[in-house]
Amino acid sequence: MKYKTLKGLQDILPPDISVWQHIESTAKNIFKNYGYQEIRLPLMESTDVFIRSIGETSDIVEKEMYTFQDKGKRSVTLRPEGTASFVRAYVEHHIYNDPAPQKFYYMGPMFRYERPQAFRYRQFYQIGVEAMGIDDPKLDAEIISMLSSILGSIGLEGLNFEVTSIGCASCRPDYKTALKKHLSGKLDEFCSDCRRRYDANPLRILDCKVPSCIESRKGAPPVLDFLCKECKDHFDGLRKYLELLKVPHTINPSLVRGLDYYTKTAFEVSSENLGSQSAVAAGGRYDGMVREFGGPPTPGIGFAIGMERIIPLIKDSADGNKGPDLFFCLLTEEAAEKALILAEQLRAGGMRVEMNHEQTSLRSQMRKANRMGAAHVIVLGEDELKSGEIAIKYMTDGKTKRSSLQADEIQKIIKN
Ligand SMILES: [Zn+2]
Ligand SMILES: [Zn+2]
Repeated sequence: MKYKTLKGLQDILPPDISVWQHIESTAKNIFKNYGYQEIRLPLMESTDVFIRSIGETSDIVEKEMYTFQDKGKRSVTLRPEGTASFVRAYVEHHIYNDPAPQKFYYMGPMFRYERPQAFRYRQFYQIGVEAMGIDDPKLDAEIISMLSSILGSIGLEGLNFEVTSIGCASCRPDYKTALKKHLSGKLDEFCSDCRRRYDANPLRILDCKVPSCIESRKGAPPVLDFLCKECKDHFDGLRKYLELLKVPHTINPSLVRGLDYYTKTAFEVSSENLGSQSAVAAGGRYDGMVREFGGPPTPGIGFAIGMERIIPLIKDSADGNKGPDLFFCLLTEEAAEKALILAEQLRAGGMRVEMNHEQTSLRSQMRKANRMGAAHVIVLGEDELKSGEIAIKYMTDGKTKRSSLQADEIQKIIKN
C-alpha cells in the first residue's frame, strides 16, 4: 500500500466511532447540568504558551512537543494538553471578569511525540474541563463527583479514585528541601533524567517511570507531611466533601503531577482493566497559573479524560451501528426515480432510508440490504409503479405488509 497513517496516529472508523460519540454526548449532557460551557481552542499555539505553563524541564517540553517554525519564522507548537491554551484564552479574553466559577469544557485532539504503545497515541483525544475563580474545596469535590458521574454514565466499572494534595508555593519549598536531602545520598542510583531533575524540579523524580528509580525513591518523605495550614485545611475539606457526596476514593500521597503549575488538590482515576497504562483521567488545581500568564491571581481546577484509555473499556457495552429503517430494491430506471423522491420524503419525516444505486440482480440487492442491517425492504419495479401498490418486507421475520406508493402511508406502517 502506498500511503498509511503516520506512526502513532490512527483513523477512527465505524463502528468504533459510535462509541466515541456515545462518550461525547454523555459527557456533554452532564456538563450542561453542572453549568459547563464549551470552549473551542486552536490546536496550535505559540511555543512559549506551553513552555511557560508546563515547564521547561518537563518531559513534555523537553522531548514530546511537535514544535516547528511556520513560514513567518515563528516557533509554534501543536498543543500537547488543553489547560495551557485554555488559560491563555482565559486571560486574553478577560473571562475572569465574569461571575465565578467560570466553567468550561473542551473536546479534541492533543499531540505528543511519544513512543507509541498500547492506548498511547501521538495524536490522542481528551475531554477536559476547567473551573476558574473559586478556591473552595467544595468545588474540587464537585468536579471529582462530576467526573465520577461521567465515567459511571458511560458504563465504566472498577475505577479507583485517588486524591492527594501537593501543597502550594509557600509549603512546597520546604518539601523540596526535605526530598532533596533524602535523595542526596543515593543520587547515582537514579536515571540521568532524574539526576537532572534533582536540581531543576526534584518533585518530578517521584513521577519517573524507570523501575530502578521507583525502587530507589522508596521511603521518600510524603508531601502530605509538609502541607502548610492553608493546604492542610483545604485537603481536609476536600475529603469531607467527597465523603458527603459519597465519592469513593483513596489517598495516594505519591501522586505527583508532571506539570509545574499544579497546587493543592491532585487526583487521578485509574482502571483495574488497563494494565500498566491504567490512568483514564487526571486533574488538579493550578492556582498559580493565571498569574503566570499575566492575569490577576485566580485559582483554577480541571481534569482531562483520555479517550483512547476509556474506549477499550466500554467497547462491548455501547450499542453499535444500526442499519437503515428502509432499503429500496430497484428493478427499472423509472422505479429508481420514484424511489429517489420517496426516500427524500421519508427522510424528511425522520427515517433513515437507503436505496440501491447499482445495476444488480434483485437477489444481490436483497443481500446488500441484509448486510447493511436494513429493518425493512421495498422492491420497486414496473408492476408496483403501474398498480401503485407495494409490499413492505420486514427483514426480521420475512413477513410483508401492503401499502400504497405514498410516503406518509409507508412511514405510518413502518413506525408502528
Ligand atoms: Zn501550602
Ligand atoms: Zn528516573
